[in-house]
Amino acid sequence: MNHDVIVLGAGLAGLAAARDLARGGADVLVVEARDRVGGRVEQNRLPDGRLVQLGGEVVGRAHTAYTDLVAELGLSLVPSYVAEPGALTRATPEGVSADDPPHWFGPGDDAGHRKATAAFVALAATVDPADPWSHPDATALDRLSVGAWLRTEGTTPAVVRLWEIGQLALADGSYERTSLLAALRKHTAVPADGHYAYEAWEGLRVAEGSATVALRMAEELDGRIRTGAQVEAVAVRRRGACTVRLAGGEPLTARAVVSALPVGPLRSVAVTGVSDERLASLHRQRHAVAAKFVAAYEEPFWRARGLSGLSESEGVLGSTWPQSEGILSALVPPERYGVLLGMPPALRTAELLAEMARLYGEEAHRPLATYLRTWGTDPWTQGYVTHWTPGDVMAVGPRHGTHEPPFYVCGSDQWVAGYMEGAVRTGRAAAKEALTRG
Ligand SMILES: Cc1cc2nc3c(=O)[nH]c(=O)nc-3n(C[C@H](O)[C@H](O)[C@H](O)COP(=O)(O)OP(=O)(O)OC[C@H]3O[C@@H](n4cnc5c(N)ncnc54)[C@H](O)[C@@H]3O)c2cc1C
Repeated sequence: MNHDVIVLGAGLAGLAAARDLARGGADVLVVEARDRVGGRVEQNRLPDGRLVQLGGEVVGRAHTAYTDLVAELGLSLVPSYVAEPGALTRATPEGVSADDPPHWFGPGDDAGHRKATAAFVALAATVDPADPWSHPDATALDRLSVGAWLRTEGTTPAVVRLWEIGQLALADGSYERTSLLAALRKHTAVPADGHYAYEAWEGLRVAEGSATVALRMAEELDGRIRTGAQVEAVAVRRRGACTVRLAGGEPLTARAVVSALPVGPLRSVAVTGVSDERLASLHRQRHAVAAKFVAAYEEPFWRARGLSGLSESEGVLGSTWPQSEGILSALVPPERYGVLLGMPPALRTAELLAEMARLYGEEAHRPLATYLRTWGTDPWTQGYVTHWTPGDVMAVGPRHGTHEPPFYVCGSDQWVAGYMEGAVRTGRAAAKEALTRG
């Protein structure tokens, strides 16, 4: 047997698992299809030295697995865009407005929004994020979309629109296609007074750069990572060696396998020796498909207009926020991903910058550099973050996030709602389990 454990995928989950396994004394090998580590965290450096994040960026104070790891790696956390002064901008076809209330709100909508939020928070308190399946109304809550639930609560179309623009700003799938049970589960995983409190989910970032977390772990794993190694098949055996076959046919063997692959690419890997039920649950999961656009400027020109750089929009871009001094991030949500791909490639940057100009002024047309990363159609991601449409929580079932030793599963898709926290949390938990079971 060549190794104690083979880890599939060198994203945050695979690296966190492999690092703990190596520190626990295991002989571990990580196999990664891309020619770089990090997966959905990736960064570039501008000629002036500023780092540009093209994938995952911000975390919240309740994301303790991630924040603990950052401290262990000797990196530091600083306030994210939420500390930016200035107003939030909202853009719809009929107008652009700064701060609350949204420009489409009428009399009573503010109160209606507060009422719906309170009802959502109260209902969320009845859901156990580790076991949503045990809720007495689990099936009914899962079958309902958040949009449908809002309407049953008597919420006005203007308030539903506010919830929807916020959801698409996160580039998760539309609330008309999101399971209420999944949304409640996500909320209770990081409880807060409001519905998706930005501070609780996104208040911090790593000063040295988000992707530096992955690079630091890879440094510690020096010599134990093979890049350019695409996994095609895995044969799991309880007695004897498990085999991982790479594209080209090379077999690798180990006592145990930790899969840290996103659910999309995992569907193309032939896995045997794992129960049909576990595989069916894994293969039932899906992703919201999204793209990220970044524009780097000399300076944060939006501040002069009293704006924070945070926006929620009904354009092709669902949101913008300042990722660091003078650099604007933006997301294209799943509902508009097809529109992005339909744009002639030569026009895409100009059209996306025009949307930013509508929010913040003509200076938006003059970036130092731009980046467009189409994660939704990247073969090694096939998405962005895990998404739960009505019925998915029950269909995936309580096997979500579980292991069948010697086959262990981790990755952000195996936590309630994706995120870097999910990757690190499940990666470290899988390593602990594999070390305990020997
Ligand atoms: C644009 C964008 C913005 C985001 N913003 C945030 C944010 O601000 N905050 C936050 O917390 N989260 C954010 N996320 C989500 C977060 O980045 C991810 O959930 C997390 O990084 C996923 O880590 P992972 O290790 O589970 O998966 P991945 O990072 O996807 O790693 C999986 C690895 O497996 C490899 N792989 C795939 N198929 C194979 C194969 N067949 N053989 C070998 N290797 C394979 C991939 O190349 C990849 O390296 C964002 C994601 C994106 C895309």
